[in-house]
Amino acid sequence: MAESTSSARHFQVLIVGGGSGGLIVAAQLLRARPGLDLAILEPAAVHEYQSGWIPAGAGLLALEQTHRPEVTVIPAGAVWIQGSAASFEPQASRMITAAGESLSYDVLVLAMGLQLNWSQIKGLPEALGSHGIISNYSRAHIANTWETIRSFQGGTAVFTHPATPIKCGGAPQKVMYLADDIFQATSGVGVNTRVIFCTALAHLYPVKAYNATVERVVARRGIETRPLHNLIEVRAEEQLAIFEVSSEGKPPHLETIHFDLLHVVPPMSAPDVISASPLAIKGPGGWVDVNRLTCQHKRFADVFALGDVSSLPTSKSLAAIRGQAPVLVANLLAQLDGVPLPAQYDGYTACPLITGFGRVVMAEFDYQLQPVSSFLVDPTKERWSMWLVETRVFPWVYWNRALKGRLLESRLIKPLAPLMRWLGLAYQKQ
Ligand SMILES: Cc1cc2nc3c(=O)[nH]c(=O)nc-3n(C[C@H](O)[C@H](O)[C@H](O)COP(=O)(O)OP(=O)(O)OC[C@H]3O[C@@H](n4cnc5c(N)ncnc54)[C@H](O)[C@@H]3O)c2cc1C
Repeated sequence: MAESTSSARHFQVLIVGGGSGGLIVAAQLLRARPGLDLAILEPAAVHEYQSGWIPAGAGLLALEQTHRPEVTVIPAGAVWIQGSAASFEPQASRMITAAGESLSYDVLVLAMGLQLNWSQIKGLPEALGSHGIISNYSRAHIANTWETIRSFQGGTAVFTHPATPIKCGGAPQKVMYLADDIFQATSGVGVNTRVIFCTALAHLYPVKAYNATVERVVARRGIETRPLHNLIEVRAEEQLAIFEVSSEGKPPHLETIHFDLLHVVPPMSAPDVISASPLAIKGPGGWVDVNRLTCQHKRFADVFALGDVSSLPTSKSLAAIRGQAPVLVANLLAQLDGVPLPAQYDGYTACPLITGFGRVVMAEFDYQLQPVSSFLVDPTKERWSMWLVETRVFPWVYWNRALKGRLLESRLIKPLAPLMRWLGLAYQKQ
């Protein structure tokens, strides 16, 4: 049991961040080892299912369905400390909360998500929510995003993707495809609308096989794509978006685009409290410096990290946590027991790309940027079945299985694999 004083406490396992990664790890640890002395440090009173924010911003899901009180999702057996981390002293296996309490640990898990840096785009923080400037990356603005898309009267609709790693790399496009369908379905709007996707990256998608699919989607829709366009300023009154445009061998130049609707995805980084700590990598992002296979910190053996805050070189998503959590749990328990770490993460991640109403590309891949498929079917294709999985099955699985520490492996699909292979229908990794 936890030793408890007002200013200092010790736990066998201390998890900082009770979002998706922190809760899934806590639940899996307590299933594997009931009675573990485990605490979760989390400031928010409400837990967010962020994967529901894109459907909510397109009127497909009520916003209320995307969050629940934190107290209802803390796994039985875990102590919830409602507070936030203010500094870390990993050399002493201890951290200090914003309330000044010292928390020490046998093992620390960092699952603090990432920081949205709205103010890195000049003029954006004060303009968001006005003059057609919207974002699904802030829960406070999702209702306005839906209202703005729904009532759009035509003109130029610009969607952006920043230069930094972001959570759910496909989300900036998902909102665009759904919005485009809504424009097309609204009398007179589709024909009078020009949709432009401005991405700071060189390609639409980092995985070749999925990039080919989304290239076809934008071509079919007549969406203009502007690669290497990084949004740096918004002039709300004039409805102007200023981009820094990179071009090979030449210095970057500025380009101004007039918009009637602008969906912004801000630059992202690790929370300042991490990037300013000895736990961070040296270099951009300030992520927690972990081994890409074991999720263990490279310098502090009693520290592990997963999810958005980690330096794991894969796409930041809830689906990635599905691959990371069992590895971290097995390795953390080994660390507690003083035996070699048994598990390795293969970089599995996924980004279900909603390419329109009724269509999803279940984009799953690994460290080699090769498509993989949990559903046995070719993952590079747009499918209605995957739309059902994304919009109906995943939310249920999240609340009822993942947060309860049950592995997300489907008991229904796995037994079908031999039959599918025998019939030659199963997707084979290239
Ligand atoms: C619009 C959108 C759409 C998405 N769509 C998908 C999708 O379709 N599929 C998919 O797989 N993923 C999707 N994601 C990504 C997914 O939601 C995240 O990758 C996932 O939530 C990451 O989990 P995490 O635990 O790392 O961070 P989070 O779930 O963000 O949790 C971090 C927690 O840390 C807490 N915290 C922060 N600072 C401190 C501190 N100082 N001290 C203590 N606690 C702190 C926060 O309050 C929070 O509860 C989407 C995300 C967004 C925003």
